[in-house]
Amino acid sequence: MPESSDFMARVRAAASDGGRLSPGSMASWEVFPFEREGLRVRPLEEYVVPEPDRRKAPEDCKSCSALGREDLVLHRGDRLGVIRPGGCNLVFVANIVSLSHEMLDDLDDDGHVELGRLVGRTYAAMKALDGVGNVHVNKWENGTGHLSVTLLARPEGVLQLRGSNLAAWADMLPPTPADELAARADLVRHALTRAG
Ligand SMILES: [Zn+2]
Repeated sequence: MPESSDFMARVRAAASDGGRLSPGSMASWEVFPFEREGLRVRPLEEYVVPEPDRRKAPEDCKSCSALGREDLVLHRGDRLGVIRPGGCNLVFVANIVSLSHEMLDDLDDDGHVELGRLVGRTYAAMKALDGVGNVHVNKWENGTGHLSVTLLARPEGVLQLRGSNLAAWADMLPPTPADELAARADLVRHALTRAG
């Protein structure tokens, strides 16, 4: 356990019911996907320090694979590009990724500038699509250690999907038809070309 932190001690002191925390205020939000009654929080497990390496081999990386498929590539820049997943359950999803298998930690200042520009341009391109109420921006690594800033487009007027629970809702929604996603991909691709 890191000497500088009493994080887990505070968690254990706050927990009851076999080490479980109580659901927080989020469980009462109108945008939370689940009803508060019956919710059970998982007990937090012990520290794992040092953490396992987040980097997987490029051969096992979904982002590297998508960069090899032109139907999934929306833009190629200097060090970064924009791709989309092969399918999704929202109006549209795009990922700003590094063109090589690297993490945000590896970018230099020019990479940071390019990332900021692409976040703004991809956000604008997705926000301009018909039927989009808002676009949320998240940094993950797709489980492989490949930089991926994920932009999620929320359907217009579906206010229960607002905010930080959008990804949880998306996991439960039915798939968006592939032809709709392909048509929107063309619009985003053209918008990013015009912007660049
Ligand atoms: Zn990769």
